[in-house]
Amino acid sequence: MKKIITLFIGVCLSISAQAYTICIDAGHGGKDPGALGFFSKEKTVNLAVALELGRLIEQNCPGTKVVYTRKTDVFVELHERAHIANKAKADLFISIHANSTAAGPKGTTTSGTETYTLGMHRAAENLAVAKRENTVITLESNFEQKYEGFDPKSSESYIIFELMQDQNMAASVGFAKEIQNQFKTTAKRTDRGVHQAGLLVLARTSMPAVLVELGYINNRAEEKYMNSKEGIAALARSLYNAFVAYKK
Ligand SMILES: [Zn+2]
Repeated sequence: MKKIITLFIGVCLSISAQAYTICIDAGHGGKDPGALGFFSKEKTVNLAVALELGRLIEQNCPGTKVVYTRKTDVFVELHERAHIANKAKADLFISIHANSTAAGPKGTTTSGTETYTLGMHRAAENLAVAKRENTVITLESNFEQKYEGFDPKSSESYIIFELMQDQNMAASVGFAKEIQNQFKTTAKRTDRGVHQAGLLVLARTSMPAVLVELGYINNRAEEKYMNSKEGIAALARSLYNAFVAYKK
């Protein structure tokens, strides 16, 4: 065990020569609870994993600066989250979320993790995730102006993502693949793969950027796992390992 820890620190020290900044974005917050589980809210799960990931990086990677979009239960507008990352000249952006299905009060048996990069959805399920995650902008005042008429609930609005050029695409996908690999091996989660979708928060960041879905909060077992100490630790450790692997 000691050997493994030493190895992680060694990897991080070797990259500490130049300053590197990661922006960690805990999805939702404040008046926006995100998806709802049986006993918990998405915003709480996202924040717990985000803080634990930041703690691991700060503790083991002295050359890496961690910037958070929120560290407490507050509402942060979507464009502001991207602005925080851009202003900090972050080298990498990770937005942390939990998934949910449209299943009724009985919940779902669907389980597993997904990681998204910016792009045009190829499947209806990816569009559904983008719609749900983008709809938070409707809680912001003047969102029509701020997002140039983008209607998060209208499928037509998503056509703009087909025309969008993303020079960070390859790096984002590389990081996303490391994350899914770590979720599978370190946290032993079901791997639901890397996907593309028109996620506004990723569209507005100017560095490699991913959005992770930690699991289904309306799946009783996964909700319990995501709220447990072990679950939070394993999910954050997976993201940390993926960061170290990506950085190398
Ligand atoms: Zn979310």
